[in-house]
Amino acid sequence: MSFDQQQGFSTKAIHVGSSPDPTTGATIPPVYLTSTYTQAAPGQHKGYEYSRSNNPTRQGLEDCLAALEGGAEAACFASGLQATTTIVQSLLASGQSIVAYGDMYGGTYRLFERVFKPWGLTVHYTDENSPEAFAKLVDETTRLVWLETPTNPMLRLLDIQAIGQAVKDRAARLGTSLSFAVDNTFASPVLQQPLSLGADIVVHSTTKYIGGHSDLIGGAVICKTSQQMEPIRFTQNAAGGVPGAFDCFLMHRGIKTLALRMEAHSKNAQCVAKWAAGQDKLERVIYPGLDSHPDYDLCTRQMASPGGMVSIVVPGGFDGATSFMSSTQVFSCAESLGGVESLCNHPAIMTHASIPLERREELGVVDGLVRLSVGVEDVDDLIADLDQALAAVPSAKTAAR
Ligand SMILES: *Cc1c(COP(=O)(O)O)cnc(C)c1O
Repeated sequence: MSFDQQQGFSTKAIHVGSSPDPTTGATIPPVYLTSTYTQAAPGQHKGYEYSRSNNPTRQGLEDCLAALEGGAEAACFASGLQATTTIVQSLLASGQSIVAYGDMYGGTYRLFERVFKPWGLTVHYTDENSPEAFAKLVDETTRLVWLETPTNPMLRLLDIQAIGQAVKDRAARLGTSLSFAVDNTFASPVLQQPLSLGADIVVHSTTKYIGGHSDLIGGAVICKTSQQMEPIRFTQNAAGGVPGAFDCFLMHRGIKTLALRMEAHSKNAQCVAKWAAGQDKLERVIYPGLDSHPDYDLCTRQMASPGGMVSIVVPGGFDGATSFMSSTQVFSCAESLGGVESLCNHPAIMTHASIPLERREELGVVDGLVRLSVGVEDVDDLIADLDQALAAVPSAKTAAR
């Protein structure tokens, strides 16, 4: 089936890069588990030579992801962090700098601080989400501006269009140019498409919503233009870090139900957040779909729906969080997010353990914070589970100090 820009999201998700096999008619193309390709004579091949450089199963997935994000091309990687690593290696050299929003995935922070700083890169962080705060940090050495929205785990939203405009204007005044990258893992292209809002590059941990079934690790980079993809494609081949064909097949299969799943995640999360907001025992509920959220208006403008992540603060700090998380039965206490099954995570100990304590507290990642990845189970079961787990937490007054 040929790719038509005008087609809807799910039509593209189901058909782009997944044409019937011309040899056998197999409706779902075979998984190309091959490292190499037989040539008729030296240099006479059919476009594939070696699977680090290209593989038909990976190619189908990349075509599909590019179509869904509205980009010219996509490049897939063995993990989300490998996707980020490849962007930094491709676009920056020693002495240059990155401007980033402080509330970010802990592994990305660790990568910037412990892998790239020793290579001579500088990273400037802002804890303010205004466009001016980003623009102020851009100087002659800035080559990359990096943000996630919604952020992890505080679920703040950043205005992609306004921040992109501000940092590009600032770079133009300095006579330099930079790339503006958005990690779209938490939203997925169903809820927002950063390239249409002025981003140059979109990054995904496809481990999360794109894969959607907690059965693989993967990453992707999508660029607005083929020219922007050129250095990244070069590094993909030159440095490797590519996913195997079977993982590509699983990612591509997951994508076919992405729109259905995101709708269900958002619907369930909205119900969970509403329940949580009615619990006096909770110290805080954070969900961009509640009108109590500081970025609620931006959410209604920028996102098709608020997504599947809800953060709560239980009373009693670390002990409260521990008793809550050991009492849930439908929600599994596990790292990661974005699968069909509901998970709960304790950022201070689990995903954000690589961030120093002082920095964590500045970001609001307190010991009672629990991050919920609301799955697509029946929502009544999810709420009943959270309700009984909350009942197991001593209330603030009686909690041990
Ligand atoms: C998980 C995650 C990553 C890292 O991806 P991996 O696939 O685990 O390497 C990056 N960004 C965000 C927002 C994530 O949630």
